[in-house]
Amino acid sequence: MSDFANLIRPELLAIKPFDVTRPGFEQGILLDANELPWESGQAKAPALNRYVDEMFEPSLLASLAAFYETLPEQILLTRGSCEGIDLLVRAFCRPGQDAILVCPPTFSIFSQCALMQGAKVNVAPLIALQDYALDVALLLNSVTENTKLVFLCTPNNPTGNVLSQAEIIRVVEALQGKAMVVVDEAYIEFSTEKSMASLVERYSNLVVLRTFSKAFGLAGLRCGTLIAQKGLIKILTGMMMPFPFSVLTLQTLQQALQPMRLQQMQQHIAAICVYRDQFKQALKQLAMVKKVWDSAGNFLFMQLNDTKAVLQLCHENNILVRHFVGVKGYEDYLRVTVALPEQNAVFLQALSTLEACALND
Ligand code: PMP
Repeated sequence: MSDFANLIRPELLAIKPFDVTRPGFEQGILLDANELPWESGQAKAPALNRYVDEMFEPSLLASLAAFYETLPEQILLTRGSCEGIDLLVRAFCRPGQDAILVCPPTFSIFSQCALMQGAKVNVAPLIALQDYALDVALLLNSVTENTKLVFLCTPNNPTGNVLSQAEIIRVVEALQGKAMVVVDEAYIEFSTEKSMASLVERYSNLVVLRTFSKAFGLAGLRCGTLIAQKGLIKILTGMMMPFPFSVLTLQTLQQALQPMRLQQMQQHIAAICVYRDQFKQALKQLAMVKKVWDSAGNFLFMQLNDTKAVLQLCHENNILVRHFVGVKGYEDYLRVTVALPEQNAVFLQALSTLEACALND
């Protein structure tokens, strides 16, 4: 046993880490992490001899505020929206006492951060038979005195549906003074929905999370935005290490917010939406695919007939997809990123091959 094993918080040893390994990453067809398939441009190298704090970069905050249609003081730049989630859990949940509420199936990092913090995870599942709509009554009934954060994701990862904004507002209003409602909008740029960012002005218990990892095509930059009322932004800022961003990161981000780059992003989004619909129609023709859901994100959620065989074939062909290993009830479901048509076609071809084999059996 390592020297530290009897010193470390024992509950941490029991938590299975989020699996970010990507075997075959260099040459694979990468349909597992909802990234954009295009490479993003690089910034010209700036001088690196100075500390730079994004809070002292009013032009960057102004650009972010303009893009998110909110005020600069309501914005916290984070290292990916994952850091925003972690900060919120650490700020609101006392270990061994408090809880978060999640609506599965949803993004697993919400629960992961809570477990790391020693907070409880309560659930109010989405309604599978209603295409994963929110169960508002169940949600509100599941909020206990110690529930500090309710995480909602729209469009939801992995199911791809948008949650009703009217219902989210009902939840926010019902929980005022009782719990914070965190709306993760990581994929909103691919949908026709309006962001809820401008509503943080009205609701002090609303937090909105956005990211540069998806529609901006900057997953490798590690930048996200947390939007909330000024007082909370101040507290969360104080929880971060000083100078969390490199000068290179901040410069690249500033460039990504320039009008020409935003225009290019819109073109990428439009292309992904076209590819998504083509991919979905093609999947629907396959007997191997039991059901594929409509998606407002850059991925498709599907139920398969022979998941084991599909996963085996993906593995053999170096196609990475997201399977919900060990998630009870979702063993036969996959989430597949919408990439370039020729990359999506590799996955479709693999499924067709399997069907042909099944017919010949
Ligand atoms: N929220 C959701 C719903 C996601 O799917 C992801 C990435 N898979 C994230 C947040 C985290 O994104 P990042 O930390 O890269 O900003």
